[in-house]
Amino acid sequence: MSKPSTTLIHHPYVPPATFAAPQPGVFKASTVFFADVAAMRARDWRTKAGYTYGLHGTPTTFTLEERLATLEGGTECLLVPSGLAAISLVSFAFLKTGDEVLIPDNAYGPNKALATGELANFGITHRLYDAMNPADLAAKLSDRTRLVWVEAAGSVTMEFPDLPALVNICRARGVMTALDNTWGAGLAFAPFDFNGSGQGVDISVHALTKYPSGGGDVLMGSVTTRDERLHRALKLTHMRMGFGIGVGDVETLLRSLPSIALRYAAHDRAARELAGWLNGCEEIAQVLHPALEDSPGHVHWRALCGETNLAAGLFSVVFDERYSTEQVDRFCDSLQLFRLGYSWGGPISLVVPYDIGLMRDASVARWPYKGTLVRFSIGLEDVDDLRADLQQALARM
Ligand SMILES: *Cc1c(COP(=O)(O)O)cnc(C)c1O
Repeated sequence: MSKPSTTLIHHPYVPPATFAAPQPGVFKASTVFFADVAAMRARDWRTKAGYTYGLHGTPTTFTLEERLATLEGGTECLLVPSGLAAISLVSFAFLKTGDEVLIPDNAYGPNKALATGELANFGITHRLYDAMNPADLAAKLSDRTRLVWVEAAGSVTMEFPDLPALVNICRARGVMTALDNTWGAGLAFAPFDFNGSGQGVDISVHALTKYPSGGGDVLMGSVTTRDERLHRALKLTHMRMGFGIGVGDVETLLRSLPSIALRYAAHDRAARELAGWLNGCEEIAQVLHPALEDSPGHVHWRALCGETNLAAGLFSVVFDERYSTEQVDRFCDSLQLFRLGYSWGGPISLVVPYDIGLMRDASVARWPYKGTLVRFSIGLEDVDDLRADLQQALARM
């Protein structure tokens, strides 16, 4: 079978007659015309058999949805205005008053904020679980648990959970699983088919803002399934909430998607080299990168991603506790090529210092490190230049 890069580049698309070209056409519309009233009445917006209104899709958005479904190994995909909107679409589609949702304590922070904000307002409760301890998840499932979020690797702290174990626990109890697959991007592992086992999550959300865009200039998200019933529920909520997206951004994504596998591998290669180098620096107490042997969850990364041997371009370091917050801030401020900024997946390397104490619930799992954590997103610059930048910033600390 062809690899994702080939499949994405040679993805089926029917151009207008005699106009075959590398990129698909870009169609923008709010209004879509119907030939007559009978056609207007007969058109079903819930399927891709025809077009009804811009909010329900255009040939251009459908093409991107189909390519993303191919990338992640799903059958159906919906586009939303951001990665966070993809998380909220899943929550609003499946949770109702009285339900409970379980979220890993190391999940993408705004997912937890949605739970303490709008979900709580609607009478939906949540519990945080330790993603590195499947028994903790099993103990927290109840008759009210309707949805379990999983994420690999964990946000910022990069622990890699035993994803198949977490998903099996939920499946055995008949509880739906949704994966935030932004890190894996459909490349590091197959979210619906772990290691070719046929087993995987029910829903995959993806912040297209990151690797699919690759430019640091687009916000978009997707929700992919391979369950027609779940897709229909998502599609209804998607329509009722009015999640429209700009077709100009869809065009940008269609342009960058063919190079995603190449870029992802380059980010990964450079990140691994720099993480390995920092691992040997005496200023650093711990490097958190799932492909490094002494990083939390490395065995689970190897079990799930060993075949692709891919690990994205993200990692964090914990500075030795002898360095004050001010010194670590000075390190970040001294970097020249690395820019201070959120998000990741673009060509420019980024750095963010985090206070993990403020981000974790100590009753779920104890954060074992004392020093300050800094997260790096490795861009596409030359790796020797990036290493030299890190070296001069360490010297100024
Ligand atoms: C960035 C990110 C999101 C949210 O994406 P936006 O498009 O910025 O809203 C969700 N999950 C993870 C893991 C992310 O890194």
